[in-house]
Amino acid sequence: MAELTPMRRQYIEMKERHPDCILFFRLGDFYEMFDEDAHLVSKELELTLTSRDRSKPAEERTPMCGVPYHSADAYIARLIAKGYKVAICEQMEDPALAKGLVEREVIRIVTPGTVIDSSMLEEGRNNFICSIYRDSTGTGLCFCDISTGEISVTAFPAGEGDEHLYNELGRFSPREAVLSDGAYSDGALLDFLAKRLECRCENGGEARYRPEAAGALARKQFQTGLDALPEDPHALQAAGGLLSYLYETQKTDLGHISTLTYFTTGQFMELDLTARQTLELTETLRSKEKRGSLLWVLDKTRTAMGHRLIRAWMERPLLSPAAISRRLAAVGDLAGDAVGREEVILCLREITDLERLIGRIVYGTAGGRDLVALAAGLSRLPRLRELLSPYSAPLLSTLREELDDLTELRELIARAVVDEPPFSVREGGFIRAGYHDEVDRLRDIQANGKGMVAAIEAREKEKTGIKSLKVGYNKVFGYYIEVSKSYYDQVPADYIRKQTLSNCERYITQELKDMEHTILSAQDRLVALEFELFCDLRERAAACVGRIQASAAAVAQTDVLASFAAVAADGNYCRPEVDLSDRIEIVEGRHPVVEKMLRHSLFVPNDTFMDNKDDTVAIITGPNMAGKSTYMRQVALIVLMAQMGSFVPARSARIGVVDRVFTRIGASDDLSAGQSTFMVEMTEVAELLKNATARSLLILDEIGRGTSTYDGMSIARAVLEYCADKRRLGAKTLFATHYHEITGLEGQITGVKNYNIAAKKRRDDIIFLRKIVPGGADQSYGIEVAKLAGVPDRVIRRAREILAELEAEGAVRPAAEPAAADRDGGQVSLMDMGAAQAAERLRRTDVNTLTPIEAMNLLFELKQML
Ligand code: ATP
Repeated sequence: MAELTPMRRQYIEMKERHPDCILFFRLGDFYEMFDEDAHLVSKELELTLTSRDRSKPAEERTPMCGVPYHSADAYIARLIAKGYKVAICEQMEDPALAKGLVEREVIRIVTPGTVIDSSMLEEGRNNFICSIYRDSTGTGLCFCDISTGEISVTAFPAGEGDEHLYNELGRFSPREAVLSDGAYSDGALLDFLAKRLECRCENGGEARYRPEAAGALARKQFQTGLDALPEDPHALQAAGGLLSYLYETQKTDLGHISTLTYFTTGQFMELDLTARQTLELTETLRSKEKRGSLLWVLDKTRTAMGHRLIRAWMERPLLSPAAISRRLAAVGDLAGDAVGREEVILCLREITDLERLIGRIVYGTAGGRDLVALAAGLSRLPRLRELLSPYSAPLLSTLREELDDLTELRELIARAVVDEPPFSVREGGFIRAGYHDEVDRLRDIQANGKGMVAAIEAREKEKTGIKSLKVGYNKVFGYYIEVSKSYYDQVPADYIRKQTLSNCERYITQELKDMEHTILSAQDRLVALEFELFCDLRERAAACVGRIQASAAAVAQTDVLASFAAVAADGNYCRPEVDLSDRIEIVEGRHPVVEKMLRHSLFVPNDTFMDNKDDTVAIITGPNMAGKSTYMRQVALIVLMAQMGSFVPARSARIGVVDRVFTRIGASDDLSAGQSTFMVEMTEVAELLKNATARSLLILDEIGRGTSTYDGMSIARAVLEYCADKRRLGAKTLFATHYHEITGLEGQITGVKNYNIAAKKRRDDIIFLRKIVPGGADQSYGIEVAKLAGVPDRVIRRAREILAELEAEGAVRPAAEPAAADRDGGQVSLMDMGAAQAAERLRRTDVNTLTPIEAMNLLFELKQML
């Protein structure tokens, strides 16, 4: 260390304090990285690797790479997106004025979950960081979006299992998680976070989670919400632990994070990650795009706040019919008034992202443009209030009252800041003329500098009678009076000679020096004064954080309700009746997404009736491609939409509140990689059967297809019996299957009904009717669908021959033999081939070298072959 330059020592010390971060070390106009950081960043960002000390031999040089400070955000964003943490080390004093080594400090650590710059954030999406505290008695879970100031916390006792924990994590989908030692040692949890949610995990250690320290932090931060602080120690520990991490990384005021919301499971419908993904709520399963998801249909919001809230509402449908009806009534008012709704929407369009603006203002990263945007957004609120006044829905009245436009603040900003302020607040030019006398005076001096020079020149000429006298300026002497040689004798005594040139002399006077000082310092003073005034404005805005957040929340809700209303009106949706009955009655229901995607045909509506008595389990058969999956998902989506407070695509709907929707979509539907194995399928079935209640809705699409036909069918039947059995589960279930044998359960078990999606065979072709009708399907049409898909004629002809043979054989065999059972699965004809394959595989296997897990896998593989 002793041999190093002072700056290098400073760097190394700084890096030692932040070993897990990439250190952006400010050097003049650049952020530089050294050593391993330089190697890493140059590779990740494809930057050139250089070195500082080129005179040394290559192996002794310090590797280095840098980015210009003004474009650093874009580089930081890319590193964050790759999961790194970046520590920003700034110069704390002007290098020109520093005596010796420039003082530097890490002013902030940017991590995926603590991003605040708008360029790094997705506008319509919250960016959550979470904290998980865990010990033998329970788990505390806290989520925070520091860009908007939302923070919420919950806790589960140890006995409740991890299910709720995983579901909440799936709902918030945090970008970063800070975990206590207890939580960090849970491999399954880390796997879920890292692999399924692609979330950065950080071991936060135990110290920050100690009850006293964590509790004290939480109490200090949430002074205003003191009464509302959760009693549960785990919740407090999770919240306090998160705060401690935020203070440590952000090193700034977090005043906008002021109200801690305590939620409990049971307040909202719980959806697990599988259900969210397979029902394609916010993105499609395969391409992960918004287009094709329910959000794509429902999201016609116009503000960034609305974009974020509609997601949140979709992620947590309500359970209380009263709360749902409140939303539905508001949607109804807006849906029924096309003109008024359009005006509301037009007004919303102009409202800026108040939530994130106030976040940046409190945080201290806001600029002049942010203040103007805040005032502009607030200035639309009186109009919005006016537009909402004709409606009688109680929720709309409440929202109207909550729209606080902070007249004084926005008028102050409008008075103080120009319409289009420059990007930087460090260079002046954003305070409006007339706002502050001194600013006006200094600007005047700047503008009139030339005039002052001309005035002095004219006066001095006259006073001295020197015709060639002129006032000039250079960098070395500043302003000077120049007199040519022939007039030397007329130069007044108070002129001070500064420079002699070949044919003239240059002088200064006290007056000239004073003027020079005034002009030159006016610029500096102006910049400093404008900045001071800006900080004052920013502080005044920051002091209104609570009121602005409340207004923002009201705007967001109005926006979502207006969006639901617009979609309802355009899509011809109806207002569902939501109650606590056990019935789901849908007349002419449609799939909201599929109906929008269909280009060349009309969507065929279908009815649904389910209850917990005679119509609990619907077994749905029908050819491939008939529309079984579409129908089942449509029922689930209509239920979810109703409970979100949205109108639904149907002629009428009555929905008895569902506590949870579970989905199990068969392997044939190809979930993303690694999820379609039989093991995963069964794990999901197990979870579902363990956690569903009689009030749940189950969507089971082709259970048991990933294994041999008999196994699969047996499992399918047993699951179905369990779902239907009122003493066990008795939950409303839609069960699509190709195992026609299962349709035999109708009449044997109460509550089970058969349905099929009708199709007609015309000669060798198939016509899909898309209508759900009572009764099981009469045949499979697998070969017809294969033909439709373009399987070569030769193969189709051969398949028909085989089928005919099998059917003929089946006729002489007892009914329970596999031939009939597997008609459409097509596995029987492959039976012998499978056996031969299995035998060959076994022959090639050296049993002595197999590990237990390999043996299990082999068994599984063999079974598949059979
Ligand atoms: P498989 O058994 O092969 O999984 P499936 O019976 O589940 O098939 P779906 O995937 O639901 O069939 O539907 C296939 C296609 O049929 C859909 O993508 C859609 O284009 C169309 N479709 C489904 N239902 C309807 C409907 N009610 N009206 C119009 N078109 C429909």
